[in-house]
Amino acid sequence: MNCRHCKAFLKHTFLDLGFAPPSNAYLSKEDLNHPEVYFPLKIRVCDQCWLVQTEDYVQADKLFSSKYAYFSSTSSSWLSHARQYAEKMITELGLNNQSFVIEAASNDGYLLKNFVDVGIPCLGIEPTDSTATAAEQLGVPVMREFFGEALGRQLSKKSQQADLIVGNNVYAHVPDINDFTRGLKAALKPSGTITLEFPHLMTLIEQAQFDTVYHEHFSYLSLQTVIQIFSAAGLRAWNVEELPTHGGSLRVYGCHQDDPRLTKATVSGMLQKEIRHGLQDLNTYLSFQFRAEKIKDDLVSFLIEQKRVGKKVVAYGAAAKGNTLLNYAGVKPDLIGFVCDAAKAKQGKFMPGSHIPILHPNEMFNRQFDYILILPWNIAAETVKQNEELKKKDVRFVIAIPELTVL
Ligand SMILES: [Zn+2]
Repeated sequence: MNCRHCKAFLKHTFLDLGFAPPSNAYLSKEDLNHPEVYFPLKIRVCDQCWLVQTEDYVQADKLFSSKYAYFSSTSSSWLSHARQYAEKMITELGLNNQSFVIEAASNDGYLLKNFVDVGIPCLGIEPTDSTATAAEQLGVPVMREFFGEALGRQLSKKSQQADLIVGNNVYAHVPDINDFTRGLKAALKPSGTITLEFPHLMTLIEQAQFDTVYHEHFSYLSLQTVIQIFSAAGLRAWNVEELPTHGGSLRVYGCHQDDPRLTKATVSGMLQKEIRHGLQDLNTYLSFQFRAEKIKDDLVSFLIEQKRVGKKVVAYGAAAKGNTLLNYAGVKPDLIGFVCDAAKAKQGKFMPGSHIPILHPNEMFNRQFDYILILPWNIAAETVKQNEELKKKDVRFVIAIPELTVL
């Protein structure tokens, strides 16, 4: 296989998690009587542009036939993140009722609603019908399409170029990152701004967040690689910010290459930081597998030990990252009895691969157990705070990453 960005031959493996079902393919009771499809979950690294990427495999399109859709608005911390982002952009870019904002992969409209509320025209691009419908109910106009070069050109022809294009947790998920970036270029006004948020490969490596690896997550990005992808499409990164979201994300600000805005010192500063963290050293990438294996071993040992002494362990948050961790570790319902999740669409279903049942959060208070493993460690603080009453019942909270910790 060749690199999705620079086309160099891929010689090196970053992480091999064996085989796993798609991490969002939650199962109904009836599905449990059918065979389950597993795909290879292997991540490669390009030694030319340092793009870390999933390996191609056959029938990749099957992943996207899933009936299940993620609704962003189920996380309260995300809602406030989106609101703060919108307020910042409106002020800093001076957006008003003459401006135009486009969001690629606008999901259920939770972000664009903040622009609609103050009368700034906007358009969401979202191929998933259920989330697009939810956005429209909030008053957010939506085009049911995938964002890419063809769509960008179409918008440009219709004089629908944007002052601001938002890509919030979509850049790492697009199969053809070059095509998506050319779409950004085509749909951007001459003086327009792009902001892209994505989990930072540097923190993924530093904090051993190997569970953020799943099939639909095609790219694992550093600023050094994004700058190269932007440049090939005629764009320039002129600013970058570090965000705490998803355990450590970057917000990269883009513009046309010939835009008069100067590139801020934040860009060279972050590039230096990435070099200090070894992101231009192949050994940094090649040693990651051992760290994932240690986390898996520690979790499995903990679960088996609790079972032996008669303690019950359950989990919180039926997130995609939880499925990566549990399937890699081979955990089944004998080790984790159930998982609670606030998303109605998941309740009553089963986790793919592990077949652990997903229950309403009320069950945390109706049932007896000793430990609760928080699978989405990025919302661990929020989860502990919301469920402090469990501590009165002597329940202990546990996270597995970056290392097994009883909170
Ligand atoms: Zn490459």
